Amino acid sequence: MRAGTEVRTTCAYCGVGCGVIATPDGKGGAAIKGDTDHPANRGRLCSKGLALGETLGLEGRLLSPRINGRDAGWDEALDLVAARFRKTIAEHGPDAVAFYVSGQLLSEDYYVANKLMKGFIGSANIDSNSRLCMASTVAGHRRAFGTDTVPGVYEDLEEADLVVLVGSNLAWCHPVLYQRIAAAKQARPAMRVVNIDPRRTATCDLADLHLAIDPGADVALFNRLLARIADAGALSAEFSAHVEGLEESLAAARADQGRTGLGEAEIATFLDLWIRTEKVVTVYSQGVNQSTSGTDKVNAILNCHLSTGRIGRPGMGPFSITGQPNAMGGREVGGLANMLACHLDIEDPAHRSLVRSFWDAPTMPEKPGLKAVEMFRAVAEGRIKALWIMGSNPAATLPDADAVRGAIAACDFVVVSDLFATTDTARLADVLLPAAGWGEKDGTVTNSDRTISRQRGFLPLPGSARPDWAILAEVGRRMGWKAAFDYASPAEIFLEYAALSGHAAAQGRDFDISALCGLDRSGYDALAPVRWPVTATRRGGRFFADGAFFTPAGKARMLPVTSRAASGHVDVEAPFVLNTGRIRDQWHTMTRSGRAPRLNRHLAEPFLEIHPDDADRLGIRAAHLVEVESRHGRAILRAMVTDRVSPGQVFAPMHWTAEHAPTGRIDALVAPFTDPISGQPESKACPVALRPY
Ligand code: SF4
Repeated sequence: MRAGTEVRTTCAYCGVGCGVIATPDGKGGAAIKGDTDHPANRGRLCSKGLALGETLGLEGRLLSPRINGRDAGWDEALDLVAARFRKTIAEHGPDAVAFYVSGQLLSEDYYVANKLMKGFIGSANIDSNSRLCMASTVAGHRRAFGTDTVPGVYEDLEEADLVVLVGSNLAWCHPVLYQRIAAAKQARPAMRVVNIDPRRTATCDLADLHLAIDPGADVALFNRLLARIADAGALSAEFSAHVEGLEESLAAARADQGRTGLGEAEIATFLDLWIRTEKVVTVYSQGVNQSTSGTDKVNAILNCHLSTGRIGRPGMGPFSITGQPNAMGGREVGGLANMLACHLDIEDPAHRSLVRSFWDAPTMPEKPGLKAVEMFRAVAEGRIKALWIMGSNPAATLPDADAVRGAIAACDFVVVSDLFATTDTARLADVLLPAAGWGEKDGTVTNSDRTISRQRGFLPLPGSARPDWAILAEVGRRMGWKAAFDYASPAEIFLEYAALSGHAAAQGRDFDISALCGLDRSGYDALAPVRWPVTATRRGGRFFADGAFFTPAGKARMLPVTSRAASGHVDVEAPFVLNTGRIRDQWHTMTRSGRAPRLNRHLAEPFLEIHPDDADRLGIRAAHLVEVESRHGRAILRAMVTDRVSPGQVFAPMHWTAEHAPTGRIDALVAPFTDPISGQPESKACPVALRPY
């Protein structure tokens, strides 16, 4: 791209999906500003987005393939990958191989990975780090709506009279949405915001009411709300014709004796406010999802909206906010082990048959594959013998990370595609493949409100790096499936995927972008942000106000749910509950954000938030080091003594890895307990012991 030319692209970080205008300087860098035409941000960017230009240098980049630590050519590396995967499949069957992919991949990358694994290798062992992000929402949506459909749009956050944030530090984790709500509240001071979070986070600055709920008690609180909705006569008689399961759900809600940790007066204030405000949006994020009862928490929230018919209308509805830039795109292309492309269901024979025939695929697995935590357990047990990890760092970020690191190290054959060779995971690879990164490659991403946006390259590919879709397609061809992976551009992949969505919609699925399959190459290049569905008769909009759902009966399902304690038991040996999460200016394991000096100045090292009473009792002083120990691992962190956390609870950020701070690897402490339905790990409630270091 010529220096000085403005290129419209999408931010590399969170699921808000802000539009960015990059102007390359001709020397490998670029000036960055917000895109005022993008509907997600209308020109706004947060600190991370604004610093993207500082993260583009090639220092430390992986610039050529490596085999066992030595540089190699692409032909040698790809032949080895194809041969080892073929050999493993021949000797041990297709389920002996696995792909672990990422919400950082673009939809075109994700689509090809999913097609290769499910249609041609013949296993469903492809799962994504999005399993750690919003798998509970996917499961909750599918239980209630029949499909993984986000009902609302971002404008609902501004049109609501009440925004309820649950387990979401929006101010730090999705800052531009926080700014949009703050601006709406400033314009309409009567608008109310309630923040439900065990911690008093920066998001509380906007809240009229902060409910410092006990960790994991969301089901108990929303069951209280459902019961009160019924008692107050606020059930929607009109919408009830479109809903099943009301009586059972109400009975379960009334019977739920779960503790919330909240006072009766503050609960009553919240319930009354919710019930008397028709235009209410309930926004939820990782505090809901990352839990052994995450799916039930999602359904407890959906139950309240379904029972009142507050869904799919302006300013109303449940709203899941995703963490990663393309977690939603990954869901749409079937990048999770229990899904097929275009929201088709791997366990439905008609759906399998549709995808198999569309791909002209030799095979199609009949059952879901292993979800992330199970997948790495299978690696540890030797059941998975060849593993390809793309754009992710599971040796640092999965729960029980030391065990995961050991499992990857012991695996027979490990391929890692990444930008850097120095991540905790890349150091364990037999074959390292240099992937193209943000600003270097082309494709699409989908944000939290179903808006598909282009990411566009504006820098040359460094060294011999290649886009992930091209690497995957080349391996597919070398494994013997030349025609199926004969892609010359991401546009060809997108158009194939758009065509498949039309067939999926004909089977009653929600995801339909079939009107885009007529795009030519230049139309794809010029594609402006567009919210799906995109059909001949419909473009964007909300779902479900008409009461039409994607279940066999065409009705929404309310689910009877009951609150449960977190899986880890706090006891005398591990008396504190560890909550983990993000900080404002870092992203994931800091491979990109850690390169921007101004982002590193915000919070420069791993830390532990601890309540002053607990610190006093344990003899821990502010800024001194604390040893944190769980049944799985140990970390040494700087004490931040603050009443932002309640007594008995502590908080630590999840960004630091062995590369940056060997003693700060927080996921080494987190227990590998998962939600029985979604498979999402419990990253917010791990029992730990503390002592001064
Ligand atoms: Fe990027 Fe998210 Fe910040 Fe927007 S809010 S600029 S998408 S990190």
